[in-house]
Formats: sequence, C-alpha cells, structure tokens
Amino acid sequence: MRTVRSKGQIRLPRKVFLPNLPLSGGCQCGAVRYQLNAAPLILYFCHCTECQKQSSSAFGQSMRVSAKDLTVSGELRAFSRPGASGNDLICEFCSACGARLFHRRTSYTDALNIKAGTLDNTKWFKPAGHIWTKSKQGWFEIPPDDLSYEGQPETYGPLMERWQQMLGRQA
Ligand SMILES: [Zn+2]
Ligand SMILES: [Zn+2]
Repeated sequence: MRTVRSKGQIRLPRKVFLPNLPLSGGCQCGAVRYQLNAAPLILYFCHCTECQKQSSSAFGQSMRVSAKDLTVSGELRAFSRPGASGNDLICEFCSACGARLFHRRTSYTDALNIKAGTLDNTKWFKPAGHIWTKSKQGWFEIPPDDLSYEGQPETYGPLMERWQQMLGRQA
C-alpha cells in the first residue's frame, strides 16, 4: 500500500519551525484547554472519509503526541468507533461545544492524536505525509516530495522519521 513518490531520489525534507513549548490549544468554545509540553511525534494529514466527515473538511490534521506530554483541563465526552486497524478508536470532544479534540486507541495508551486544527497556532504546520490518499478530494494535489500512502500505513515509522528530520533532529 505504501507509495513514496520520490523515486529513489533522496531529497532533504522541508523544515518545520516548531514554536516555543508548550503548545496550547482548545475547543471552539474555550471550555476545554490543553497544553503540549514536548515536540509532537508526527504531524500528518488523513484523507479518509471518516476524517472528512468528522472535520467537515477535505482532510483531518493528526498530531501524534506522547500522552505524558499532554495536560488537559475541562470536561470531555467520548464516543468510540471501529478503527481501520480493527481496534476501537476513542474520539473525545468538548462536552459543551462538541469540537473534536483527541483520538486514542483502546489498545495503545502511551500516545494519542490531537486533532491539530484545535491548536491556537497552526500557521507553522507542514505535514510529514498524507494517508488514505485514495479517498482524497480531487482538487487536492499531494506535493510531489511528500510521503504518501493510499490507505492505512503498515507502520508510521517512515512518517515519524521524516518528521524528526523536518524538525532538524537528525542528519
Ligand atoms: Zn467547547
Ligand atoms: Zn482519517
């Protein structure tokens, strides 16, 4: 399923300039607020139909973080749905305004995804790659050097590695 577009050619990934930590964010009404106290593990965009429906947009912006690096205040509610991997996905949202904030796996509690459009500052975003591109909207062109997967990646390793390079953490 994996399709990497740069055909054997090694190109330096784009740089991403992480703002000063902590990163802050919250729901649309302000009742739920969060702080991220360390760099995210990945930022990627998901073009699956679930993310399109949930976000009412062309794609979801997923920021994977370590659970220990995130502090949250305010009241969340949750519902769960079966994820593509077969494990349930717990989807958390503000109990007052309903804005979607976090996705967690029942099978894995060390990390979770922030729905990254809820960060206060999103101007610095550049994704490490794109997943579920087979359901992307027709007008959206994947940048030619971006990592791209037609469906669910078998592993997020290459996306994580590229993200670290974009942050300037590896040669
Ligand atoms: Zn709210
Ligand atoms: Zn998705």
